[in-house]
Amino acid sequence: MPKVTRKQQRAKQSRNFLDGIARRPHTHSRTLRRSLEEAGTSSSVSDSEAGLGVCPQCSPVLSRYATTFKEMVHSGTELKKRKKINPVPKRPESEFTHYRDVTRQNEWLRANVFDSLGSRSADSSGPTHYFLPKFATIQTPKPTVAHYEERLARSVVGEFNRVQQETGGGVCSNGSSHNWLKAHRPKVGICPHQEDYCDTCSRKKTEIHAKQTTINRLLQSSNADPDEVKKLEEEMKDTKQVLENHRKEAQESHKYYIEVTKSSRNEWKEITELERKSVLSEEEKTRLAFLKNGFKLVVSADYQMCKLVPYWGLSAQPGSTYYLQKLNHDVFGIVNHAEETSTVYLFDERVGPKNTDHTVSYLNDYFEKLPQWMNRVHLFLDNTSSTNKNCYLMAWAYEMVQQEKLSFFRVSFLLAGHTKFSPDLLFSKISQTYNRSDVFNTEELKNVVATYADVIVDDGHLVCDWRSAMDKYTKLPGIRALHDFIFTKHPITKEVVAKVRKNCATGSFDNATIRVNSGRDVHENVIPDQRTKNYVALGKTRSLSQSKVKHLQQMSKDFIPSNRHLPFINIA
Ligand SMILES: [Zn+2]
Repeated sequence: MPKVTRKQQRAKQSRNFLDGIARRPHTHSRTLRRSLEEAGTSSSVSDSEAGLGVCPQCSPVLSRYATTFKEMVHSGTELKKRKKINPVPKRPESEFTHYRDVTRQNEWLRANVFDSLGSRSADSSGPTHYFLPKFATIQTPKPTVAHYEERLARSVVGEFNRVQQETGGGVCSNGSSHNWLKAHRPKVGICPHQEDYCDTCSRKKTEIHAKQTTINRLLQSSNADPDEVKKLEEEMKDTKQVLENHRKEAQESHKYYIEVTKSSRNEWKEITELERKSVLSEEEKTRLAFLKNGFKLVVSADYQMCKLVPYWGLSAQPGSTYYLQKLNHDVFGIVNHAEETSTVYLFDERVGPKNTDHTVSYLNDYFEKLPQWMNRVHLFLDNTSSTNKNCYLMAWAYEMVQQEKLSFFRVSFLLAGHTKFSPDLLFSKISQTYNRSDVFNTEELKNVVATYADVIVDDGHLVCDWRSAMDKYTKLPGIRALHDFIFTKHPITKEVVAKVRKNCATGSFDNATIRVNSGRDVHENVIPDQRTKNYVALGKTRSLSQSKVKHLQQMSKDFIPSNRHLPFINIA
């Protein structure tokens, strides 16, 4: 076989690339031709009228890429240098935005998915976006299944087609939906049911299933290699063991969580009973002092999947609003296990996207309101690294004890998806009410949440820039493998003692390696001043994209009574 030179190889690459681009205008032109025909311009639109090959939007982009590639091929030895100075963009898709916009499919898609980053799958290779929770499947069900109508309405393709028909657009088959998603949102998935979804379990289960399928296929074929089968079987056994250990750990930490919350509740009950008495005996006084001294407040906190506004849960959603982008709201819930009360901090995407600044600011705000004597806290969070388990949160815990805001602070991380975590219970109640109501603005969302919790809406005056303040401390190496952190002050030396362990229910504690950075004073108070370091004062709030504002205006104007508009949406 003749040897292919690098130059020939490159020429082939560029040909393929240009072919790829050239194919796109055809799809585009076809869509354009169809829309021209539908508009009744003419029953037979000629190629040039339809823009085949001479699309005014495509051709400048095309010629630019063609030139770049020609240059690349002809300048052989210069290539490496050029790439460094002026890298050729690999995905020209952003240049072709008009393709995406010519089909309403993608508008619909954009308005009905939300960003899953920051939620539980952030650590994994899983989807970056989820469909709204109302969708249970992507493809339409077979017409012969039970409850066909109901299932159809809960499938992405089924609902898309219904709305397209209602608004006079074309429908999409299951087969083409596959290509549609692959091209425009390759990493979109059905929103997992929050309470019983564990990322690790689902990943391991898929792995086991894939290996089993390969083994079966090998065994059925006549020329199976016994060594390969054996190797695969052993790998599968290992994966099963990992899954088993993971489940056991989850069970143990669940049991531990239940025990700890129960004891906090009982201690609190006894304290309130004693405090309610008008006259206390000496014995009771001692008992009360003892209880208060040793009392540990147990608190769990978590984020709910974002809530969109406006939302039609009671009345039928107008078809055309399916194509319009809504305003995202994040819900941060704190459950107090002693008093059995809940508090929710609510903020919209202009104050987001949610990060550790939000987690720490809201928890800090919550702890500041506790009675002075209640300075021992045990906090449960889930394992999400983007908002919870990271060096900023640990530095904050250290600083809280260093500045004597708390005398004992323990942070435990649970395996999400296995525990009946109390915030999940709160969130499922909120979702039930939200799903059955018309929620058109932030105030109405607040009212929905207020049925179950105290609600504080943050417009950016509450969330502070904690992350930059925490540069007083060093990073904590190996934090991913750790699940339990304790911060206390040594009674004599008055230095903060930090201990960590791998499992939040069992095992022994090691000293943590988090330190104050060299050159910094350990006593320096770096807790940000809420009046000057909040997001509004620092200019860290974001404005909405123009398209989103336009969409919100359109929905308000057409479908929402004027007294229920979002206050910042001006439709005059
Ligand atoms: Zn699991």
